[in-house]
Amino acid sequence: MANGVRNELLMNTTLIDELAEVAKESALAHGILMRLEKSPNSSEEVTYAPITLFPTPVPRAIFLQGVAVQTHYNTLMNKISQDPDFLEEVLASTISVDDFTARLFEIHRQVLKNGRLQSIGLGLNRSDYMWEQKNGHASLKQIEINTFAAAGGGMASHISDVHRHILQVAGKLEESQRIIDNNPAVGLAKALVKAWELYGSKRAVVMFVVKENEINIMDQRVIENELWKGNITTIRKRFEDISESGRLDGDKRLFVDHQEVAVVYFRHGYMPQHYKSEKAWDARLMMEGSLAVKCPDISTHLAGTKKVQQVLAKPGVLERFFPDQPQVVEQLRATYTGLYSLDMGAEGDKAIKMALATPDWFVLKPQREGGGNNIYGQEICEVLGKVKSSAARMAYILMDKIQPESTPNYLLRLGRPLKISNCVSELGFFGTYVRHGKDMLMNDCVGYLMRTKCTEYSDGGVASGAAVRDSVLLF
Ligand code: ADP
Ligand code: MG
Repeated sequence: MANGVRNELLMNTTLIDELAEVAKESALAHGILMRLEKSPNSSEEVTYAPITLFPTPVPRAIFLQGVAVQTHYNTLMNKISQDPDFLEEVLASTISVDDFTARLFEIHRQVLKNGRLQSIGLGLNRSDYMWEQKNGHASLKQIEINTFAAAGGGMASHISDVHRHILQVAGKLEESQRIIDNNPAVGLAKALVKAWELYGSKRAVVMFVVKENEINIMDQRVIENELWKGNITTIRKRFEDISESGRLDGDKRLFVDHQEVAVVYFRHGYMPQHYKSEKAWDARLMMEGSLAVKCPDISTHLAGTKKVQQVLAKPGVLERFFPDQPQVVEQLRATYTGLYSLDMGAEGDKAIKMALATPDWFVLKPQREGGGNNIYGQEICEVLGKVKSSAARMAYILMDKIQPESTPNYLLRLGRPLKISNCVSELGFFGTYVRHGKDMLMNDCVGYLMRTKCTEYSDGGVASGAAVRDSVLLF
């Protein structure tokens, strides 16, 4: 939407009030739903999942770049997962100081020691970006790649429908046609189906590993529904359930509640708090050592760590994975912003000095996932002040702070007043792949996730409450 048209719309408060009601009802009608915080385990009462009132304009070139590079990211994650020497070397410093990553790495070691049983690899990942304007052109910069529990694909599709409807009601027909179609759930399910077929047992199920209270359950249900359409049974289990009723048979086939599991799809298990007891860790180890296809398996989980991302940005490292494909290397590298190691030594010392001098230019990231863990601004100085002389600093990486332009929008969220906010957006692309032995049988970009938040928040995705779902209007 041309800025003039957009601003005129945004200022028409009578119309905005009306559109907000239309948007909420359209969201409800399309199943863009979320459970309530006060009853996170019940679907008796639900609300619309938070969304923006208007779609966010994205330069066409930026969008196409994200789509084009996604299949290379899929290949890269797959290759790293098959390269134990690389993982060992890269994660050595992190696991020496970070207990959680060390524990995951221990499982990885054990799986390797026993020999990997399953030659089917299934990746459902999401590479996230922001874009900056520099010297008159926009450039796409990666925030991170998620190889574990990459969420948001279930409910993404209908957000475009809601936004089209809103622009139609507002009389912006031409703009409404520039919102692109998006249906990642279908693509994600297709890859799950492929892996299930390769596993080769009609009776076996796809098991979603989930948490106790999931307010975003509908996002997962949409994918489950796609699987049921293909006559594939899905079950939802917590680590505790798997620990209680899971077992391996003599051939290392995984059974949970007497049902054979073809595919384990982790939607939980990316934070230390998700492993409430040793039983949860035992359950993870049992699954990793089983014949079931894991999405992701432990090595692909580790491939998605922030430390790996930082090392990939170093000169010469991408070439290890694409020795004869300089164009692929170039495409991937174009999406990197500055990433710096804080490992002991001169390079780490230099990065720390730089961060202390201009903390607002950087983000300090511990090896964690799930939002709300990163450190910004003056707090960087406080944290680095404490850890800079000890090995504890190796638990972090440093990253240039991406400076996206802001766009005004309204965020619709239960119980919040309707007010105009300055917003920035994060655009993620869903990638799927299925590997059998050394052959990639599937490698696709299956859609996008657009998330928008007020500029007051530095951190945060949808799950941590800062961002709301959005859609893309190409210009
Ligand atoms: P998490 O695993 O917690 O999702 P992310 O790396 O995605 O970690 O960071 C969380 C949020 O912090 C992002 O969604 C984004 O809003 C913000 N963020 C992360 N890295 C940067 C960066 N380099 N520049 C600007 N914002 C960032
Ligand atoms: Mg993230």
